[in-house]
Amino acid sequence: MYGEIEGTGFEVIAPEFEACFIGHARVERLWTGARWSEGPVWFAAGRYLLWSDIPNNRILRFDETDGSVSTYRQPSNNTNGHTVDRQGRLVSCEHLARRVTRTEHDGSITVIADSFEGKRLNSPNDVVVKSDGSIWFTDPSYGILMDYEGERATSEIGACHVYRVDPAGEITIAVDDYVKPNGLAFSPDETELYIADTGVTHDPGGPKHIRRHSVSADGTLSGGEVFAECTAGVFDGFRFDRDGRIWTSAADGVHCLNTDGTLIGKVHIPELVANVCFGGPKLNRLFIAGTTSLYSVFLDVNGVSPL
Ligand code: MG
Repeated sequence: MYGEIEGTGFEVIAPEFEACFIGHARVERLWTGARWSEGPVWFAAGRYLLWSDIPNNRILRFDETDGSVSTYRQPSNNTNGHTVDRQGRLVSCEHLARRVTRTEHDGSITVIADSFEGKRLNSPNDVVVKSDGSIWFTDPSYGILMDYEGERATSEIGACHVYRVDPAGEITIAVDDYVKPNGLAFSPDETELYIADTGVTHDPGGPKHIRRHSVSADGTLSGGEVFAECTAGVFDGFRFDRDGRIWTSAADGVHCLNTDGTLIGKVHIPELVANVCFGGPKLNRLFIAGTTSLYSVFLDVNGVSPL
């Protein structure tokens, strides 16, 4: 289980990457048996990680205390991305129910958003919670394009936007010029919001990049320039470390981008990676959702708490 896995390893592209990893640390395959792994999220209090196996309509749970994996929720409404809010509650994107939900401390489920101006959302994909309690999520059409990861349907909204739900529950469009908005994350100081566009999946000339937006105090966005182009597949989900680097999914593993968007190194994974998150008591363990499997590797960087 903890031996070296073929096809894994660190690739240094710029010397600064050498300070980010531990030379003898190895990528571990913690579990395999999923159809499409996505949405890893770390729960510090319980020392466990949840992640989605979208086509199998389940949320899986990795327990760091003993290494076991079990089913957390099935059916899951084909959940995709997850995050944890400042109160430690699970926030989830559900393809099948076309909504964003929160799982309360008593286990009940609260709907955060399922429509905009009376029209159903497409299929929320990924979500983050800002420290002011606002909830931001992307709404591409992947869950309604076919029955594999949700249920085929026509988009009621007719476009794929990024939305913001304020602490009072009001939903607004945060940005409306994406083709297929996907992963998103705030910079460690929350002054910037980074959003991936994976439009190339259904249009060979479409975007495959991360864009950067400035976030004002009232929650409006400005800017939106391209921050980094993906050189292997697409950037799907990603997370920041405390020093402002982005650790992002890509077709050949995890790409590390420095604060100006330069690709400085990779963690190679032998499967297409869809998302990552930091975990472990010190947030120095990167969990990697790679198609059929859950991987992890200890790094010499720390993730941003609690996201
Ligand atoms: Mg995604």
